[in-house]
Amino acid sequence: MRQPSYIPSRALTDETLAYCATELERRHAMLSHLGDGSSSDRVRRIELALSWLRSGNYGSCAVCRTPLPEVALRADPERMICRACAVHSPARGGGGHGSHAEF
Ligand SMILES: [Zn+2]
Repeated sequence: MRQPSYIPSRALTDETLAYCATELERRHAMLSHLGDGSSSDRVRRIELALSWLRSGNYGSCAVCRTPLPEVALRADPERMICRACAVHSPARGGGGHGSHAEF
């Protein structure tokens, strides 16, 4: 298993970052392969998450910068905003992939 060379965020363990990076890359590859237009928003979100992983910003809310719970990221590596901001944002939802309880 290759080791991602991402800069670890102080809030998350290396293991969680590696897990999220692997999961995001896997999903990105899968969605890119599908070439399905309806998934392009999700592809963009995953690309953003991956760029944040590389820059060390991953794991904080995109809106308010609150660190996201590790357990929430492991459950949904695509998550980029905290629960409080998700409530106020219409952007999330739909999607239809494994919708689970908000953290
Ligand atoms: Zn937030």
